[in-house]
Amino acid sequence: MMSAMQETRSGKREGCVSKEAWHMAMAILASKRSKDPVTQVGCVIVDPKGIVVSMGYNGFPIGCSDEELPWDKHADNPLETKFPYVCHAEMNAILNTNDQDVSGCILYATLFPCNECAKMIIQAGIKEVVYLCNKSKDKPLVVASRTLFDMAGVTYRAFDMEEAGSRTIKINFRQVPPPFHRSPQQDRACKQTTDASAAKKSEREENEEEAQQRAGDHTSADTEGTTHAMKHLSLHA
Ligand SMILES: [Zn+2]
Repeated sequence: MMSAMQETRSGKREGCVSKEAWHMAMAILASKRSKDPVTQVGCVIVDPKGIVVSMGYNGFPIGCSDEELPWDKHADNPLETKFPYVCHAEMNAILNTNDQDVSGCILYATLFPCNECAKMIIQAGIKEVVYLCNKSKDKPLVVASRTLFDMAGVTYRAFDMEEAGSRTIKINFRQVPPPFHRSPQQDRACKQTTDASAAKKSEREENEEEAQQRAGDHTSADTEGTTHAMKHLSLHA
């Protein structure tokens, strides 16, 4: 066991972001991907070891255009509102696990889950929900969420603001300290490398496409599944 003396000599950096704040910060960051003009929600699923298994934010299903479907909350015709079409952050996170079992996991959400997401959380085996905001706590559907969680033994608690303190986490891609700092010259060099790599990749993809066409359409269900999963992740994680 490490002694107090050794601890003080280790030279470790003090005041780093706590695990709890780190996970909720990731949920907040995920919410920044949402196109919803009113409610942006993000969530993160963390396994019992504290490893992030999945992330999600509210959005329309894959292949359903953000440009064509409505984001309105109110309209005479319910089909002209977002509600029949949108997938909530929790649903996307549960579906984006890359087939990893989420039973026993903790879900961090920026907003208390609705009743539909509560059902999915319970069925997925998630054991705890940590939420940042519960602005609709008296609405019947959120009361229903609590009823379901209580019956199923899923615990829920508000994110510990005291523990997070008054910490503000700012991400400025240009002001990350060394060794990640890039000068404008390195920036340009990186862009050139990226462009060259993209050109090589598209050349390779063209060759692969030709090879596939020559071989006929032998795409297996497995390959399709993998491709679908990757596309899903890139859009919603
Ligand atoms: Zn929901």
